[in-house]
Amino acid sequence: MRHRVSLTAAPQEAAAQSLYIPIAARKLGIPPGEITAARITRKSIDARSRRIRVNLELEVSTDPAGFSPAPLPLHYRSVHNQPPVLVVGAGPAGLFAALRLVELGCRPIVIERGREVRTRRKDIARLLRQHTLDPDSNYGFGEGGAGAFSDGKLYTRSRKRGDVQRILAILHHHGAAAEILFETQPHIGTNKLPGIIRNIRATLLEAGGEIHFETPLTEFIINAGIIQGVRTRGGATFKAAATILATGHSARDIYQGLQRDGIAIEPKPFAMGVRVEHPQRLIDRIQYHGQPRGPYLPAAAYRLVTQVDGRGVYSFCMCPGGFIVPAATGPGEVVVNGMSPAKRNSPFANAGVVVEIRLADIPPMDAAPALAGLAYQAGLEREAFNHGGRHGQTAPAQCLRDFVAGRLSADLPATSYLPGVVSSPLHAWLPAAIVARLQQGFRVFGKQLKGFMSGEAVVLAVESRTSSPVRIPRHPESLQHQQVQGLYPCGEGAGYAGGIVSSAIDGERCAEKAAAVFGKTSP
Ligand SMILES: Cc1cc2nc3c(=O)[nH]c(=O)nc-3n(C[C@H](O)[C@H](O)[C@H](O)COP(=O)(O)OP(=O)(O)OC[C@H]3O[C@@H](n4cnc5c(N)ncnc54)[C@H](O)[C@@H]3O)c2cc1C
Repeated sequence: MRHRVSLTAAPQEAAAQSLYIPIAARKLGIPPGEITAARITRKSIDARSRRIRVNLELEVSTDPAGFSPAPLPLHYRSVHNQPPVLVVGAGPAGLFAALRLVELGCRPIVIERGREVRTRRKDIARLLRQHTLDPDSNYGFGEGGAGAFSDGKLYTRSRKRGDVQRILAILHHHGAAAEILFETQPHIGTNKLPGIIRNIRATLLEAGGEIHFETPLTEFIINAGIIQGVRTRGGATFKAAATILATGHSARDIYQGLQRDGIAIEPKPFAMGVRVEHPQRLIDRIQYHGQPRGPYLPAAAYRLVTQVDGRGVYSFCMCPGGFIVPAATGPGEVVVNGMSPAKRNSPFANAGVVVEIRLADIPPMDAAPALAGLAYQAGLEREAFNHGGRHGQTAPAQCLRDFVAGRLSADLPATSYLPGVVSSPLHAWLPAAIVARLQQGFRVFGKQLKGFMSGEAVVLAVESRTSSPVRIPRHPESLQHQQVQGLYPCGEGAGYAGGIVSSAIDGERCAEKAAAVFGKTSP
């Protein structure tokens, strides 16, 4: 027989089955020895008071055989002779689109600008140590997309629990730890993601799909409003009746190409700001009420949000125990972002703190109005380069208190950002509307989290790639581009997702629509 039971336990009790099974048995009114197996279905930490508790929801079996294995809801089959569908970009949207195509009986042909994930790791190591940026292989581009060397946080605002659980189940099937299936804030970690991406590639190739690395799309082949395929750098063509475009929001050349070819794109609101970093022990002390974290609690996180002068100011992609990384994708740019390893054991805690940017906030661009946000974003990244590295990826930085007070920092605290930082008056060169809102936002956050405005906190510029400044309009039902039949704009770059899980969900949805054209529907 199976039972469901909710319980609250001390962190050390929640960490060991031998300690929480007796609590579950007491709640169920049965002897602990009757429980033959138990698994956590949900886990969250309640640190609102000094007495920190862990909430567990358990599924418990009293059958002698424990749990019989749950059937896997995935059906990867041979698609060797099935209709091809082109997938451009091997980020979360493209990879999950390709996996879904296999399930539905179509043959995914994936073309990817960057390199496979193992070689890409070496390119990133060169970027960190020697400041050498490869415009095709970096934190944004290459197998796994921006999700590969990311934090691997799997939170999403998507309310469709079934869709989210499916994505988590697929990641688990490809090697992610079972904890992601029940943690309220699941996280994979930058060191574990590449292995999972390699396993996804193996599934695709085994089924009969193709993946072509170092093969960037350069041109759409469109005839009478219907996409026929794409041309890639070097001149090769790939033909298919359906193309899923999942190139992410850093692929500026794609937006420029669409604009040049007269294919509709539109501007959309986005967000920009800085990345703030504290010592992790300070965030632990704030969130765990001055108590040491000990071995049973995770590195503490925070989520902050306020409104300043009619715009949202909020923390974004908080990385406890993480690192700030150089996320530029082109020469002459400095862009910062954050990630953390599975154990979240670096001595630093970082988060983007960004201001909502609406279309009215940016200078118009008469020649290409849809690209105004992109031009504004790119301009600030060049400024960050000019004030930071000039010859590399050194980031302009300022002590948090100095940024809020509007004065240059004489010294900077240690940071996790490997390419290094240089003191810069960010308050003087970032746009005044962003600076004023960030300054006020930080004052509010300092009140919400006592100790946040610490002398040990530092801000780095510029956090500019939080979301896409462009949308590629598509029909809400068919998900095809409004003008181009057979083209499915997909994921974050198309403006329909933000983050790994929502991009993966959008990838699956586009695959379903593309496959339906060939009469292939849910197995
Ligand atoms: C450092 C970092 C940390 C992050 N941490 C998290 C996190 O913890 N949790 C979270 O949810 N999100 C995180 N994100 C954001 C997340 O990675 C993105 O939201 C997500 O990857 C978007 O998925 P996508 O498939 O739509 O696009 P992308 O991941 O951007 O993938 C696009 C792919 O298309 C390829 N491409 C580009 N141009 C071409 C072309 N011309 N031809 C062929 N291929 C092309 C690129 O090389 C890339 O592989 C992080 C991002 C970064 C940079």
